[in-house]
Amino acid sequence: MTAERSPFPGPRPDSAAARTEGREVSAPSDHRAPDLETEWARAVKAIDGAAEICLACHIRPDGDALGSMLAVAQALRVRGAADRPRGSAPPRVIASFGELPLRIPRILRFLPGTDLLTPPDAVPGRPQVMMTFDAASADRLGMLEANAARAEELIVLDHHASNTSFGTVNLIDQDAAATAVLAHELIGRLGVPVSRDIALGLYAGLVTDTGSFRYSNTSPGVHLLAARLLETGIDPGGVAHELWDRAPFGFLGLLSAVLGRAELEPAGPGRYGLVWTTVTRADRAAHGLPFEAAESVIDVLRRTDEADVAVVLKEDDDGLWQVSARAKGAADVGRACVALGGGGHPRAAGFTAQGPAADVMAALRHQLAAGRPGAAGSGAGAADTGP
Ligand code: AMP
Ligand code: MN
Ligand code: MN
Repeated sequence: MTAERSPFPGPRPDSAAARTEGREVSAPSDHRAPDLETEWARAVKAIDGAAEICLACHIRPDGDALGSMLAVAQALRVRGAADRPRGSAPPRVIASFGELPLRIPRILRFLPGTDLLTPPDAVPGRPQVMMTFDAASADRLGMLEANAARAEELIVLDHHASNTSFGTVNLIDQDAAATAVLAHELIGRLGVPVSRDIALGLYAGLVTDTGSFRYSNTSPGVHLLAARLLETGIDPGGVAHELWDRAPFGFLGLLSAVLGRAELEPAGPGRYGLVWTTVTRADRAAHGLPFEAAESVIDVLRRTDEADVAVVLKEDDDGLWQVSARAKGAADVGRACVALGGGGHPRAAGFTAQGPAADVMAALRHQLAAGRPGAAGSGAGAADTGP
């Protein structure tokens, strides 16, 4: 399971009470930085003028990536002629992510709108308007990276601090707890009411990236948005069940094997307390499980009191390590993962690697040590000082 966190946890001074005073509680606008206003206007103008809009989220999508994209896809499709300038014809909406075969993770199959997905090889090569969701850099679009590079207008909707601003319009707000918060703002600006189906996608994004309102990015604004989404009639228990509370029996065997060989490296000079394990293709094959079954292992490993950093090396079907790293606040795994070609947030990040697991861990340990405050070459703000 994905666990993304904002690098700036906790409420911001302009949020909560200040915003709700004297008017109806509305969409959380924690993220409405002044310079974003121009970008919002440009995004709406591009969408209004488009005959065709291609949507893409990051590969191996999580609840935030797919949920946000499907919410916007549905909003664009139901947008009435009256909402469009001069009653223009509705645009063709294409939604996809860049991997073949296009495999929707089992835990996300309950999301409304998955029937709207198109395989990436059917996405126009030169989209008039393309919009990306939860992707911090163009390479996270996989096969659709080339389409994005050729798009006339590329709208990037994201909340990663490491975002490379690869769009022509960049709606990037690292203070947003999830891309779903930005997707909700966009839907509002397009004048589309949030239906139950749209709310379900947004809610899936919100609970995925806040760890079900457990992580420090759970601001008052997050709860206000959650309340609005719940008002549409979605069932939070049902969402949690689909996302986290179910697995095939074989998962118990996999968990037992991979937790049983987890290694704890206690904190020492130049090191953070670290716990790590691997989930290999052989582990999955032994229990008949797909790659996505490895995703939630990190959520168990990260509980380890003795470790500030938790790492799971997940071997994908191509034999590559998809590495998930989490930190509790002393270490900055985002910086370390970016240095290793990946991305993410200070407390939740990842990268892709190949070679022996021991070598991958050695490279990661090296980056973590280099990022320690006071270490040679470490940036001033290397550590996340959040709770
Ligand atoms: P995960 O561990 O897959 O839940 O991902 C945690 C965070 O790291 C998310 O923000 C991901 O987008 C990011 N991330 C994970 N793997 C990669 C990768 N190979 N490249 C770039 N970012 C990644
Ligand atoms: Mn994501
Ligand atoms: Mn996200």
